[in-house]
Amino acid sequence: MPLRMILVGPPGVGKGTQSSLLEARLGAKPLSSGMIFRAEIDAQTDLGELAKSYIDRGELVPNGVTIQMMLKRLRTSEVQQKGFILDGFPRTVRQAEALDEELRKAQIDLDIVVSLEVDDQVIVDRLSGRLGCTKCGAIYHRLNKPPKREGFCDNCNSPVIVREDDNPETIKERLRVFRENTAPVVDHYAAQGKLVRVESSRDPEVVYADIVAGIGS
Ligand SMILES: [Zn+2]
Repeated sequence: MPLRMILVGPPGVGKGTQSSLLEARLGAKPLSSGMIFRAEIDAQTDLGELAKSYIDRGELVPNGVTIQMMLKRLRTSEVQQKGFILDGFPRTVRQAEALDEELRKAQIDLDIVVSLEVDDQVIVDRLSGRLGCTKCGAIYHRLNKPPKREGFCDNCNSPVIVREDDNPETIKERLRVFRENTAPVVDHYAAQGKLVRVESSRDPEVVYADIVAGIGS
């Protein structure tokens, strides 16, 4: 049976790592809104052109456009056969209800919604340790992956710095916005009995094992 899953969690919690493991081992296709925006824009579809017009003006792509793109992707035969892991969608209860409605029409049952959870401080430590190369964009981490020569990129020898996005204050604000928007989405799926909470500060393989145990339960 193809896996149909939603992965919820703040930036830096490890959703990307878990999506990759789930795709490699269970075959389900990871789908994030960023990925889908890019695919539609590259293919120059009507929806892609519409999304691009907002992005070019520095505005958020409206809910309705995001939902239509996501639903279009869920209807493709590849996703129907292999299953999906939604990452970063639904972000609001309105999106969750639109998704519920579409899945009901397509007679698809959602298997599980996994909420990856860690203390904010763990995320701040993780993300604020990141260093980006000013020239080639390579990413290092003060503790987990330091450059060989302190302060300089292994690839191109340019200086590595903390990026604006990775300042502790910026990260805390992103976490606050995430909680405000997403807590109701988590409650929405808890009420449906689909929600599993997984503590995610541990080794990725341990987190993965908990997710798989949740799918089987
Ligand atoms: Zn570099």
